[in-house]
Amino acid sequence: MQKEILLGAHTSAAGGVQNALYEGKEIGATTIQLFTSNQRQWNARTLSEETVDKWKQALDETGIKEVMSHDSYLINLGAPDPEVLAKSRHAFREELLRSLQLGLSYVNFHPGSALQGGVTPCLDKIVESLKGVKDLFTGKEKLKLLLETTAGQGSVVGAKFEELAYVIERVKDDVPVGVCIDTCHIFVAGYDIRTKEALDSTLSEFDRIVGLKYLNAFHLNDSKKGLGSRVDRHEDLGKGTIGMECFKAIMQDPRLKHLPKYLETPGGKETWKKEIIELRSFVK
Ligand SMILES: [Zn+2]
Ligand SMILES: [Zn+2]
Repeated sequence: MQKEILLGAHTSAAGGVQNALYEGKEIGATTIQLFTSNQRQWNARTLSEETVDKWKQALDETGIKEVMSHDSYLINLGAPDPEVLAKSRHAFREELLRSLQLGLSYVNFHPGSALQGGVTPCLDKIVESLKGVKDLFTGKEKLKLLLETTAGQGSVVGAKFEELAYVIERVKDDVPVGVCIDTCHIFVAGYDIRTKEALDSTLSEFDRIVGLKYLNAFHLNDSKKGLGSRVDRHEDLGKGTIGMECFKAIMQDPRLKHLPKYLETPGGKETWKKEIIELRSFVK
């Protein structure tokens, strides 16, 4: 059975969430990632019935599937400050409610920042934050919570596979959880993926520490910065320090080729169109 190749980008929801789907269609995407609210504001609400109707119509018209939400950059589920933590947990819950309203497949989130509080307490707060949304899941939803691998800049956690495993191990029986690998982030966090061999060995390490069954999606980005630099600057595919061999190998790997993949490359719509065509051409 030939399963669909799910490729898309983080498209714009300006003027209404449904517009992200139409923009996806324009660039030849079969899946997309979006912000379900203004990612720089705390006070986002659930969506109106009218908005949800427009969304469903756009899904029908575009045929786009397995949509992923990217949560707000303000949210820190591991914040040491109780006030910030409470606000973050509230905003995260609202994010999940909107994602459930839209019938999304994934909410991608940055695990958190330790700030002055230390890594383990931060990871423990993230665990508690995730357990706190357990009541939203009855087992019927397709929605999965994906920890995004981070670049490890500053005090951000989630740049080491061990940190992802720590959280997953503790929440997996309470909420549906997985990982979204951002190629730029893992590379600058120190995991080499520039060749097929390097990618294979990084995947083996992921499998040993986290488990490949928890790998659910990819952000496909090349990087402006070098291996282990811990600086997160995305580049268009093939123009950065990772190079096209990595993306070709991902599209050809039987374990990876059917996972949904979202571009967050800086080139924008015209570039995404070309990148999707090129990625598709690698599939054997
Ligand atoms: Zn990303
Ligand atoms: Zn990034």
